[in-house]
Amino acid sequence: MPFALPNFWGQRPLFSLFLLLFYCFLPQIALEKEGPAIKSGLRTIVIDAGHGGKDNGSSGAKAKEKEVALKIALKLGGYIKKYLPDVKVVYTRSTDVFVPLHERSEIANRLGADLFISVHCNSLPKHKKNIQGTETFVMGLHRAKENLDVAKRENRVVLLEDNYQKRYGGYDPNSPEGHIMLSMYQNAYLSQSVLLAEKIQAQFKERVGRKSRGVKQAGFVVLRASNMPSVLVETGFLSNAAEEKYLNSDKGQAYLASAIFRAIRSYKKIIDKGNGYQANNLQLRVQLGASPKPIAVHKAPWSSVEELEEEQEDGLYKYLTGNYPSMLEAVKAQRFWRSKGFDGAFVVAYKNGKRISLAEARSLLAN
Ligand SMILES: [Zn+2]
Repeated sequence: MPFALPNFWGQRPLFSLFLLLFYCFLPQIALEKEGPAIKSGLRTIVIDAGHGGKDNGSSGAKAKEKEVALKIALKLGGYIKKYLPDVKVVYTRSTDVFVPLHERSEIANRLGADLFISVHCNSLPKHKKNIQGTETFVMGLHRAKENLDVAKRENRVVLLEDNYQKRYGGYDPNSPEGHIMLSMYQNAYLSQSVLLAEKIQAQFKERVGRKSRGVKQAGFVVLRASNMPSVLVETGFLSNAAEEKYLNSDKGQAYLASAIFRAIRSYKKIIDKGNGYQANNLQLRVQLGASPKPIAVHKAPWSSVEELEEEQEDGLYKYLTGNYPSMLEAVKAQRFWRSKGFDGAFVVAYKNGKRISLAEARSLLAN
């Protein structure tokens, strides 16, 4: 079904007002809310193979998403059990059965899991059959229609559940407003989710040679209620013949699973070490710009920034990206953004949501 993204900024005054209020109050909410409890390390991972049973997910010429996702998920779990024996692996499904979306995150919440990872395959209409590549999603406000389209496709399965509107708080997968509301969940774990998502995409690209379409944000029902860092991995397009062949092969599935495994292993090192920014609740980010009025972030060059947060401070709208594990990484990112046209980009530090000086951040990191 064709779908047109409404113009949030101009043609829908009421909705724009809602968005404006949402943005105005967001930093305040973030400050007042207690941050998530820092757990000691990565101990339990819930692996969620997308779809299953009566829900096939998307399909290629031969392959079904539910089957490919399950095979990658089981391989991933196998690697974790073998090489990270201190980590408990739990699957939301290990066979071809239908599991409602809400139950998937409930499984993770009940266990007090430290990470939720949902595995999927992408698909596009026939006229876009040339498009291929991997993408990893975290919860958030989509800035591109194509991100919303992925979320809509992955969320549509709720229509197969009885009483879905009651179950999901009136959520309707066909309503764009529903997706905006949905994307407000999960902000508490955004930085850890993005950290892992970036590692997964880097592994796909550098170690497995897949085309990376990057880390993206959109509202997913399966991620919305999970009380832990959560990502949704789109391992490739079944609508692309070459990629379908790869996804449907034992070798392709093993490579993709091992890439996700290596990303998790690297993420685990940071989480387990409880290094500076974990233990001190310190965040190192890059501020791309500031303005007395809101910047039109749907326009270039802003629209190219996948992870962008707006906050109001000292009468200014400030635009931030990233969350870096070390000062070195943050400075590297600063250099990168300056090369992309954000001449005024610079590293900023936060402790418990409050901005601190870089000197203070350095001394926290040194301790
Ligand atoms: Zn899917």
